[in-house]
Amino acid sequence: MALKRAGRIKILHVSPEAVPFSKVGGLADVAGSLPPALGELDADSRLLTPAWPGVLDAAADRGFKLTRITRKAEAAIRWRIYRGSVWKCSGPGMEAYLLDEPSLFGGPVYPDELTPYSATPFLFLSLAALDLPEAARWAPDVIHCHDWGTAPLSAALGWHRYFREAPRSFSTVFTIHNLAHQGLLPLESLGDWGIDPDGAGVDGFEFFGMANLMKAALIASDAITTVSPGYAGEIMTEEGGEGLGGLLRSLAPKVSGILNGLDDQSWNPASDPCLPAAYSHNNMAGKALCRQKLLEAAGWEDDGRPVFVSVGRMAEQKGLSILLPALERMTAMNCRLFIMGSGQAEYEGAVLKAASRFPDSVFGHIGYDEPLSRLAYGGGDFFIMPSRFEPCGLSQLIALRYGAIPVVRAVGGLKDTVFEEGPDKNGFVFPDYSPESLLEAVSRALKTFADKGAMAKLISGGMKKDYSWRQSAPLYKKLYESLPAR
Ligand code: ADP
Repeated sequence: MALKRAGRIKILHVSPEAVPFSKVGGLADVAGSLPPALGELDADSRLLTPAWPGVLDAAADRGFKLTRITRKAEAAIRWRIYRGSVWKCSGPGMEAYLLDEPSLFGGPVYPDELTPYSATPFLFLSLAALDLPEAARWAPDVIHCHDWGTAPLSAALGWHRYFREAPRSFSTVFTIHNLAHQGLLPLESLGDWGIDPDGAGVDGFEFFGMANLMKAALIASDAITTVSPGYAGEIMTEEGGEGLGGLLRSLAPKVSGILNGLDDQSWNPASDPCLPAAYSHNNMAGKALCRQKLLEAAGWEDDGRPVFVSVGRMAEQKGLSILLPALERMTAMNCRLFIMGSGQAEYEGAVLKAASRFPDSVFGHIGYDEPLSRLAYGGGDFFIMPSRFEPCGLSQLIALRYGAIPVVRAVGGLKDTVFEEGPDKNGFVFPDYSPESLLEAVSRALKTFADKGAMAKLISGGMKKDYSWRQSAPLYKKLYESLPAR
């Protein structure tokens, strides 16, 4: 039974990436915007995230107040004590701790290959978080871990020789942002960071002969959430469970799906400084200029053809294996495609090849470029997202807010947020993971494109819908309050 806590509930979020400090994908958007949204609900909600290269300078440039706390946060890994300086970073809506240990947080956020050595930054972030309450003299009621990079924190509470015995005054929540990345290490490496040999069994880390960080965290956490109700159902199946479906079914009473919210202040076409003109659902005039600038960025003249935009990681998850074979037929159907992203070399190469083959219809930008992505959302007529699986997806929420009509596959969070039927109709949805199913949705989208009134209605409905944290943050708060006070 949940016990009543005195005063405001205190939550520490721990994430390897968080906007505005660092960003690789949607996790950063969520980890940066959920804590302030909880603050609005009168929770004392703080964030711990690494000071990756440039983060401290960027925080100072943004006007955040930075103060180094006196004591360092420490953790022992492979018989060495790592000590990280902790910078308290405060500003409007933000209370964060930036963990600074240049020998660990001196490179890109995620390594190309996970090894016991390249995992050290994540082990340190996780174990240092357990030392933070003492270092910062601030005791959270709940520690909320985000994704595999912080899984060692919850896992340590289950099997770490010190932490499993140590008194603690907090409960834990673990959020699965993407079950495809679980953090696999050799079983033998567990002892190097203090895990007792009894953690190496099937009731702990063991997963097909490897140590699975996320698996252990799922078992050891008090509550598990994932980022949409649709994905919460899918991860409990054999097909969507990535090897952990059975375990998640057995843990079902503590699993829930809470839709990610969008930071609709940062993602707002009425005030986005990256857009050449502002617009809103009441006054759409500026969107035409955004579209014009997007066409110019692609080197195109406007000839009335619709522009389908895609912004995202070029990974198998994102459906490039059905989008790429559909490109030629889309161009034949009179579509233009503005595709931006980076990731697997074979997909990057294929996009560039299509762009050189169809220079007047396909444009490819390889790389991470937030201002250009904002122009793409602002200038696009449609946003295409044919994901094989999609835990929540923020891109389609941004697209809705910017009046680019989503064309998505009915999976995970896409299925929960984009509807082709009913009163909430706001886009086009296809069922099968195939180029044919995608093309059928594109052809339905094209029919609507020819009908200005229907387009305007769809766009305005999508822009008006509230997919912000105002809907979802209260659900997290309720969850925290339901956890046992320790
Ligand atoms: P995921 O977290 O799986 O990458 P999401 O749709 O949840 O996917 O979030 C992706 C976020 O990253 C969105 O904010 C999107 O705009 C952004 N993004 C992805 N690729 C790029 C890119 N190449 N340039 C700019 N922003 C990008």
